Amino acid sequence: MWESKNIETNTIHGGKKSQGEHGPLSTPIYQTSTFVFDDVQQGADRFAGDAQGHIYSRLGNPTVDELEARMAVLEETEAAAAFGSGMGAVSAAIFALLKAGDHLITSHRLYGCTFALFNHQLPALGIQVSFVDLADEQAVRAAIKPNTKVIYGETPINPCLTVIDLDSIAAIGREQGITTVMDNTFMSPILQRPATHGIDLVLHSATKYLNGHGDVVAGILCGSSELINHIKMTTRKDMGAVMSPHDAWLVIRGLKTLHLRVQRHSENAQVVAEYLQGHGAIEKVYYPGLPEHPGHRLLGRQMRGAGGVMAFEVKGSFEQAVAFINQLKMCKRAVSLGDAETLIQHPASMTHSTYEPEELAEAGISRTLIRLAVGLENAEDIMADLDQGLASIGG
Ligand SMILES: *Cc1c(COP(=O)(O)O)cnc(C)c1O
Repeated sequence: MWESKNIETNTIHGGKKSQGEHGPLSTPIYQTSTFVFDDVQQGADRFAGDAQGHIYSRLGNPTVDELEARMAVLEETEAAAAFGSGMGAVSAAIFALLKAGDHLITSHRLYGCTFALFNHQLPALGIQVSFVDLADEQAVRAAIKPNTKVIYGETPINPCLTVIDLDSIAAIGREQGITTVMDNTFMSPILQRPATHGIDLVLHSATKYLNGHGDVVAGILCGSSELINHIKMTTRKDMGAVMSPHDAWLVIRGLKTLHLRVQRHSENAQVVAEYLQGHGAIEKVYYPGLPEHPGHRLLGRQMRGAGGVMAFEVKGSFEQAVAFINQLKMCKRAVSLGDAETLIQHPASMTHSTYEPEELAEAGISRTLIRLAVGLENAEDIMADLDQGLASIGG
């Protein structure tokens, strides 16, 4: 295995293993469910962990292993584990770290399904959950109880792009013996590496920037070998949200252009955010690349760029917000982010429809809030489409 000090090189070469006698440039897809043992003893040794080698693809697969090795290099952790979806990674992490009677501190703003898991499934299993503003260090400290085992956050957070200070959360975790987990989906390791700030477990929906082409649903966890092995041998093995070798191959292919794509997403988003902020039909733009955004102060310190996702409110009614979205010609009406195509969605109707009306208000999600995941098109074309949409509602 080979590793550079430069992440651009590591997205291409980092963690790549030699793959047998033919020396293929592209990682082979080991499309196999099981692996053959030479004899009973070899099988016994592999089960006992005394010998290297594969057993069965839910426990490990060479193509998936390579993606994991590559992600560990990019996130600067000892190890990584791949999953069949981002939510598979969230649930495997949470159920490996928490049991009945334990307490979780998390953010009052979260990815919609993560919120549903924490707000509905965990309490039903006897796990206590506190939703607090993780950007407010005093609020986090005040929420700590003797049985607090995990602090879980995302930064920037869906959908208003609130930024959490990673150093502060990691310091609280270390000082109190609480495991910290951070969803890094919006930034990718190109723009932010939470483990380098002391976060214990870094999570990705690999469906988004890592794969980048809108053709895979997948998840990743990165952390210490001890924690990752524990998750692989408990909740991943026994709950079974594994990644297929073919999907692992697609994500590996996506990683090779990650640095180029993320840079372009960020550049485009900055131009589009400035355009929207200057537009008379727009009430407010939420994007950490704008100096007015509260998260802007952490640009440079923990984030190397503001990323490709923003949110904005149109002036006017819910119906006008909906009419604007329906009027768009090039931007695609779709949830997800990190794809080549610019994607636009309405959180109150879509990603955050798992929230009750009062929970939406509490999370600051208005009915005119729109999320834009800026794509890789020419920024002029993205702005022209938004412009004709805004003109159609009188903007
Ligand atoms: C999409 C997403 C998830 C869930 O990932 P899936 O791959 O859809 O299961 C979790 N967190 C964030 C921030 C996401 O954007």
